[in-house]
Amino acid sequence: MPHQRVVVVGGGVAGLAAAAVLTRVHGGLDVTVVEASDRLGGAIRAIEMDGHRLDVGATHLHGITPAGAALLEDLGLSGELAEVAPTPHSVLARGAIRDLPTAMVSGVPTSWRGLRRSKLLSRRSLWRVGLDVVAPRHDLRGRLGDRAVGPLLEQKLGRELVEQVTDPVLGARYGGHVADLSAAAAFPALLIAAGTGGSVLHALRTAAERDDITRGAFELGGSMASLIEQVAEHVVARGAALHLSSPALELQRGVPGRPRWTVVTSDARHEADGIVLAVPAAAAHHLVAPVAPEAAGLLRQLDAASVLVVTLRTDAEAVRGVDAVVPARARRADGERYCTTAVRDRTPRGSVGTSLIIQLTLGRIDDRRALLLDDDAVGDLALNELAELFDASVTGAIVDVTRWTDALPQYRVNHRLKVSGIEAGCHRLPALALAGAAYHGIDVGSCIESGERAARSVAGQLKALRGSPQR
Ligand SMILES: Cc1cc2nc3c(=O)[nH]c(=O)nc-3n(C[C@H](O)[C@H](O)[C@H](O)COP(=O)(O)OP(=O)(O)OC[C@H]3O[C@@H](n4cnc5c(N)ncnc54)[C@H](O)[C@@H]3O)c2cc1C
Repeated sequence: MPHQRVVVVGGGVAGLAAAAVLTRVHGGLDVTVVEASDRLGGAIRAIEMDGHRLDVGATHLHGITPAGAALLEDLGLSGELAEVAPTPHSVLARGAIRDLPTAMVSGVPTSWRGLRRSKLLSRRSLWRVGLDVVAPRHDLRGRLGDRAVGPLLEQKLGRELVEQVTDPVLGARYGGHVADLSAAAAFPALLIAAGTGGSVLHALRTAAERDDITRGAFELGGSMASLIEQVAEHVVARGAALHLSSPALELQRGVPGRPRWTVVTSDARHEADGIVLAVPAAAAHHLVAPVAPEAAGLLRQLDAASVLVVTLRTDAEAVRGVDAVVPARARRADGERYCTTAVRDRTPRGSVGTSLIIQLTLGRIDDRRALLLDDDAVGDLALNELAELFDASVTGAIVDVTRWTDALPQYRVNHRLKVSGIEAGCHRLPALALAGAAYHGIDVGSCIESGERAARSVAGQLKALRGSPQR
């Protein structure tokens, strides 16, 4: 019997993780990856600079799960992982960049004393947070269903903490706001902590101590792009075919006697027994609309933020070592809100000379001002905002501007419910599974896990289907 064929649509980290698992399946599967752009990696990409590689998309491995750890082990990359301090470590507060408390879980401090030492909040707001420790507010609605992170935290800990600490941290990560960020999808530990009826700070601290929350951030020696290269090499060595510049345009259901699927790309038709769809929600919506209209309807509801990453070289000592986030409400001297959401010193370790490499992220789901500018204007904007953030004269040269269009999925309230509906709709299709940042976590670790899960689901269905009348 010929090998069964699986087409993985999308060559980001989720699709490549799926391909890695599929090429390991006992008995063998023919695996083909089709990728729309001319490179693999999706939101993971590096540029060459002064003999170093610098990530201009994802920079850290967050949310490593056992699946992610197993993949890294398989690729021989485990030894190159280095745990780093949680990022970011400072925030713009009361006109200056100030340290965030070190004890935090996803932007929520877990120590009142640490928060007090940080001097980020007014006395009144600090006192308000302190109430959570001595007289926690009970939620009288019983077991909590999904809630938005912002209002839930505000009720427990007060508004200033949310605006000044949690929203900048999580808002920068998601390119959005905690006001409509789903606690169940993006911060389940908070929902559990709030549901205890006791102190949220205490419950989060206990969960973190028990290691119930994946908090670690890891750097890969070299760059995150080396992860993509290694997985790609690995899957090709195991017989997978990679097709770049080959966007999938249509999924066609097979007829009896033929393979179950045909993936029509811009330059070929790939017959397939199974499909892993590892593309952003908008692309998945387009592809599944003819075969699973209900799932497509829900996919259309999943939106994503576009952001810009500006890399610049500067000699300004004031920004050395910075790793800061900017609250959405913070205003520049001209009264406008900052476009910048995060600033980080990305100077490679061991680089010679005094020049610093600084990266700024600009834009949010509801702020497209920077996206509308050309690269030169974006560079000027980044330098001006940097100077204002640090109250220093900052001159420099723009090295790179990368536009990440619709790259950060927005996990709005009831996200998990929508994803369950999407998965149920797709489950009715033979041997098709979804993977990627749109569904069960946007960090790289979660994307690897989703690729692994999708691959196992398709491989399992193909095993069960072997010998069915259709082949
Ligand atoms: C600027 C930025 C910084 C980030 N920083 C971090 C970080 O430090 N740590 C962290 O853990 N996470 C980070 N993330 C999140 C994380 O990098 C992404 O969520 C993750 O890489 C997404 O992987 P994916 O495979 O699901 O999707 P993608 O990387 O988006 O890959 C999907 C692929 O599908 C392709 N595609 C689309 N349509 C089609 C089609 N019709 N046919 C074929 N191919 C198609 C795309 O070209 C793309 O290559 C960051 C994200 C961004 C944007």
